[in-house]
Amino acid sequence: MAAALKLIYYPDPRLRLKSEPVTLFDASLRETVKGMQRTMIEAKGIGLAAIQVAIPKRLLIVDIGDLSADEEYIEGDKESEKRLSERKTISNLEVFVNPEILEASGQIEYEEGCLSVPGVHAVVKRNESLKVRYQDLEGKTHEIETHGLRSIVIQHELDHLNGIVFPDRLSSIQKMMVLSKYKKLQAEKDLEPEDG
Ligand SMILES: [Zn+2]
Repeated sequence: MAAALKLIYYPDPRLRLKSEPVTLFDASLRETVKGMQRTMIEAKGIGLAAIQVAIPKRLLIVDIGDLSADEEYIEGDKESEKRLSERKTISNLEVFVNPEILEASGQIEYEEGCLSVPGVHAVVKRNESLKVRYQDLEGKTHEIETHGLRSIVIQHELDHLNGIVFPDRLSSIQKMMVLSKYKKLQAEKDLEPEDG
């Protein structure tokens, strides 16, 4: 398997970039996806945008395995983490190149976290149902309709392609609380001795 790519973390300014469309559907794109998949598996994520590994391309991957929104997967929650770890492998990788939302409807609330903003979570309001157009690794165009957790993850990752992180989706007071907790966690981490 490909080596994992290095995650970048908030407030890295690259997370604010608007990613550029993918124009080359070549072996290097497939290699990038393999590296991203590795990174996502190691970090126990369910979605990853290319910019989170410092590649400003409109590319994202999703793998919710057999989880559905009904199971209320919560990042950081012990029960959810246990369910996730019980899946031996993340087995349902989906790759979205140059994704765009054609239609969005309904509302859903979900406790989100982010591999680029580790350690904090908050309930974010999203659209429940989406119609999405995207290209696959060969450049072929597809359209899908989706809802629930898969729809949430696609919206979260698509935000990354536009320089948006989930705290931006919160009220200003909630955002302030989440980011101040995050800064505190980061400061504590900096004080810890290196593992070598
Ligand atoms: Zn994220």
